[in-house]
Amino acid sequence: MRKLDERRLLVATHNAGKLDEMRALFAPYGIEVVGAAEMGLAEPEETEATFVGNARIKAAAAVKATGLPALADDSGICIDGLDGAPGVYTADWAETGSGRDFMQAMTRAWTELEAKGAPEPRTAQFRATFLLMWPDGHEEVFEGIAPGRLTWPVRGALGHGYDPMFVPDGFDRTFAEMTADEKNLISHRADAFTKLRAVLG
Ligand code: IMP
Repeated sequence: MRKLDERRLLVATHNAGKLDEMRALFAPYGIEVVGAAEMGLAEPEETEATFVGNARIKAAAAVKATGLPALADDSGICIDGLDGAPGVYTADWAETGSGRDFMQAMTRAWTELEAKGAPEPRTAQFRATFLLMWPDGHEEVFEGIAPGRLTWPVRGALGHGYDPMFVPDGFDRTFAEMTADEKNLISHRADAFTKLRAVLG
């Protein structure tokens, strides 16, 4: 596995919530995280049907634009009672045509589970695929998972995305009722990051 020597890493995301989590994960290793929006990068279209495929699109676009090694994270929530949906389409379920509305996305998930009469607990996993790409095109991939169940009505105002409806295994609180520090110990990104630590030396 190739090691990352650079102390500055471009994180190929325009999602402020994800970027904050990445900064907190890398900070103890003395690695400065720079976001794609700060570098003025455009957001590429995610046209692949897999997390790794979409992560590769984002990382490759960022490497090409900056010449820096880039880390892309493609993530989403896979709901067992919906045969793994929304999966790679997690962000798409929040699209309104003029922005993203995660209450709309969470309502759709719960409504579809109700329509199917899905049994409780309504299990789901957050998944994160990290793809680290170097300027010469070499890449390393790390997969993370956070298992849990969905709850309704949603609870909590912290976090982002689908956090208010997701209760991780071993807890009674949703991700949106946890501090960033608590979530960063058990999240899918934390799991992927634990594997990525192998490239940090
Ligand atoms: P991506 O930017 O294409 O990877 O989209 C990921 C989608 O999954 C976004 O809509 C996120 O809000 C959602 N998502 C990913 N990680 C989390 C999380 O930790 N909590 C809540 N939603 C998440």
